[in-house]
Amino acid sequence: MKTERTRVAVVGGGPAGLLLSRLLHRDGIEHVVLEARSRKEIENTHRAGILEAGAVDALVGAGAARVLRDGDEHEGIVLRFDGEDHRIDLVGLTGRSVWLYPQTDVFIDLADRAASEGVDVRWLATVTDVLDRDGRNPGVRWTDADGVERELRADLLIGADGSRSVLRHTLPESERRTYAHAYPYAWFGVIVEAPQSAPELVYAASDRGFALISQRTPTRQRHYFQCDPDENPDTWDDARIWGELQARVAGPDGFTLAEGPVVEKTVLRFRSSVVEPVRHGRSLLVGDAAHTVPPTGAKGLNLAIADVVVLHDVLTDWFRTGDDATLAAYGRRVSERVWRAQHFSSWMSRMLHSAADESPFEARRRVAELRTLCASEAGRRHLAEGYTGWGPITVPKDR
Ligand SMILES: Cc1cc2nc3c(=O)[nH]c(=O)nc-3n(C[C@H](O)[C@H](O)[C@H](O)COP(=O)(O)OP(=O)(O)OC[C@H]3O[C@@H](n4cnc5c(N)ncnc54)[C@H](O)[C@@H]3O)c2cc1C
Repeated sequence: MKTERTRVAVVGGGPAGLLLSRLLHRDGIEHVVLEARSRKEIENTHRAGILEAGAVDALVGAGAARVLRDGDEHEGIVLRFDGEDHRIDLVGLTGRSVWLYPQTDVFIDLADRAASEGVDVRWLATVTDVLDRDGRNPGVRWTDADGVERELRADLLIGADGSRSVLRHTLPESERRTYAHAYPYAWFGVIVEAPQSAPELVYAASDRGFALISQRTPTRQRHYFQCDPDENPDTWDDARIWGELQARVAGPDGFTLAEGPVVEKTVLRFRSSVVEPVRHGRSLLVGDAAHTVPPTGAKGLNLAIADVVVLHDVLTDWFRTGDDATLAAYGRRVSERVWRAQHFSSWMSRMLHSAADESPFEARRRVAELRTLCASEAGRRHLAEGYTGWGPITVPKDR
């Protein structure tokens, strides 16, 4: 078996892995990124769409500035319930906006940059095992596009390999603690060829369940509606999808969605999870490998970017000092934001969705919660602070 060596082995070439790679390359630190999928497949997988201003700062700082030209800055979002809109003025309440910029574009920007700079990113490279995780010469076993088994040894292993992380799941149960919560609902996500129905994201709670109206381009939109986790998208034709979406946003103001062909449909399950610790010896987890959130609060991609900013700072210290104790700071420094995002995502999800067995009392209580929130400036600010990410991604080193 062919064995190679590098300084940092980054497992996973999603946004977390490629952003870290970009920062390592800028610092002149030799590394290899191993990514199981092809570039084309990742480019065509629709996922997140909202970036906090702090995440945009991080991308721009890393040299991925196209978001400022092609992204759409959103100064507010709309909560819709009882058929009425209630706008949350993000900028007015916090001084911060968010940016609509698809995850696929974040990925393309970082992958283009890596390609143009000759960074060693290997596509169709699947990591199958972790070697000597706690030693000074850790490594991974991986399979290339031709099915040939290989080994990569490094000073450090980074698990940026998403929610099914090999680095996470090969850790013995006795060495990790997973905090998790599953939800009794999922999102039915569609990409449609239609004009925009609203200038800002609309989070709609209705008697039939939740719907999210969001935008992509002038001619393509991304919408979601709450469904059963076991829903089969193939049983839904365009007419049924539009009927359900229209029913969930209907109200006395006559708001209707602009319709068009549905070009993609998927069911997205909800799960909150956090694994601790995020560092074992010289291997560290980042992004979805370390934690997942339900998509309601738009936190997953933002949290992955925030993790990378902190991890890069920690690795810089480690490369300067060579002291493994500096790696221990990573988990401590990311933990507060991770748990705040867990709380925010869970709170938004529970407030806006109806469980299948929801009692009439609980349904009325949720609407009262939304009404109380929107009626008070303090309530609106609380939501706006969480939605925009509680300010810049700066985490003091001494915490
Ligand atoms: C439908 C959907 C909508 C979402 N909406 C939002 C949103 O609006 N806002 C938001 O902030 N977040 C959202 N998220 C979450 C967001 O997409 C994730 O949090 C984000 O992708 C995390 O980035 P990551 O790099 O950590 O993980 P990933 O993007 O999952 O990247 C991990 C990479 O590792 C690779 N990999 C996995 N296993 C291996 C292996 N064994 N060997 C080599 N490579 C491997 C995978 O192929 C993948 O490319 C959404 C997610 C989904 C699915």
